[in-house]
Amino acid sequence: TKYIVVSGGVVSGIGKGVIASSTGLLLKTTGLKVTAIKIDPYMNIDAGTMRPQEHGEVYVLNDGGEVDLDLGNYERYLNVTLSRDNNITTGKIYREVIEKERRGDYLGKTVQIVPHVTNAIQDWIERVSKIPVDDTGEEPDVCIVELGGTVGDIESAPFVEAMRQFQFRVGYDNFALIHVSLVPDMHGEQKTKPTQTTVHALRGLGLIPDIIACRLIVQKPLDPATKSKISMFCHVAADQVLGIHDVSSVYHVPLLLQSQGIIQFFQKRLNLSSIHLTEEMK
Ligand code: ADP
Repeated sequence: TKYIVVSGGVVSGIGKGVIASSTGLLLKTTGLKVTAIKIDPYMNIDAGTMRPQEHGEVYVLNDGGEVDLDLGNYERYLNVTLSRDNNITTGKIYREVIEKERRGDYLGKTVQIVPHVTNAIQDWIERVSKIPVDDTGEEPDVCIVELGGTVGDIESAPFVEAMRQFQFRVGYDNFALIHVSLVPDMHGEQKTKPTQTTVHALRGLGLIPDIIACRLIVQKPLDPATKSKISMFCHVAADQVLGIHDVSSVYHVPLLLQSQGIIQFFQKRLNLSSIHLTEEMK
């Protein structure tokens, strides 16, 4: 299984879910089987007890799992059926670790965030990524893992550390990271400093972005000059910097990503030799 982790910086609600679903959809059009996992770094076991006015609508899965609406995005974009285990929360991970501790499974060891919680996160992702989600009944080729919250939060720290370890567990060819950042437009001037800061923080935690997805909360695309600047200051090639401006429908986001070569990038980066590219993707 190949893993594409989608993290976010600067602010939440930036469009990580839409970018993650769109990337999954594009990979699916090349003939790959795609599944998705959403990580919500809160202590609630699930979204069922959360006030909709504060959290947004609760999405109910086929198995009765009450989860974040992003899971609904994945089911619709990818045409798959997910289960409650496709939504990981801090609460679920802690519950599992504490139940194991009570059973004596840790054989008298001191139970710690690292390695016990971080291992539980990695084991969960590996297990759930292999569960078939469509009617072929076959194991997915790619798993999109969306990490909720923003990198640098206390809440998401154990998940960020788990992902840092996970890149070595599964190997370079099987792990890639999209970091979604905000590019504020100040009276027509696109600012790169928040992106530089969040990519710096990400690298400090041991994660290297393969794609920096720059969200502009205006209808104007990313300037080529801004793109070069981000490439230079964030130490990535220019083709690793993608612009995602506001579009009239979120269903246009896959085309926006495709036009910037995201599929060809992942084909090379993840060694996806078997995929089929349509004319417009070449
Ligand atoms: P996050 O996962 O970062 O919290 P979401 O993917 O849920 O963010 O997106 C937040 C909101 O922004 C949603 O209402 C979504 O429809 C909207 N949105 C995301 N990307 C775009 C875009 N490119 N253009 C217009 N609206 C967008």
